[in-house]
Amino acid sequence: MGLLDQPFDNSNVFITSLDKLLNWARLSSLYQMQFGLACCAIEMMAASASNFDIMRFGVIPRATPRQADVMIVAGTVTLKMASRIKRLYDQMAEPRYVLSMGSCSNCGGPYWEHGYHVLKGVDRVIPVDVYIPGCPPRPEALLEGLIKLQEKVRRESIAKKSA
Ligand code: SF4
Repeated sequence: MGLLDQPFDNSNVFITSLDKLLNWARLSSLYQMQFGLACCAIEMMAASASNFDIMRFGVIPRATPRQADVMIVAGTVTLKMASRIKRLYDQMAEPRYVLSMGSCSNCGGPYWEHGYHVLKGVDRVIPVDVYIPGCPPRPEALLEGLIKLQEKVRRESIAKKSA
């Protein structure tokens, strides 16, 4: 019996909107641009290890910005690095997201006053979706920030954006 010949069985049918279906797929597969900047990156790496297992949220590291959905800026953003971060961000396809992880990335952190070489917040060069406080934030904080980002993606409308 072919697929279309089978009797209707409503136990296998569900109704949803296109936005909800697409957003469910997108928020469950946020591929991460893979790089770290300073001490916060150690906590980001710990989030990928077995105790925290960030991959269970669908966060897979990618070595190229063209395959990445989310950039986790983990660490001190020096003025030299800022232009590289902007370039990598520009190479990511829309829709793209940024998690700012830690005080340095959020606002310059301990380098706020005397760090002549440090950018006072990565949001001066790229837009940030979620700020994660701490110096450094623990892996659990990164996971919480990721869940906040997933909530944001869940509320978006791809259909309206592309119209
Ligand atoms: S916020 Fe603290 S732990 Fe993170 S990169 Fe800056 S100094 Fe290091």
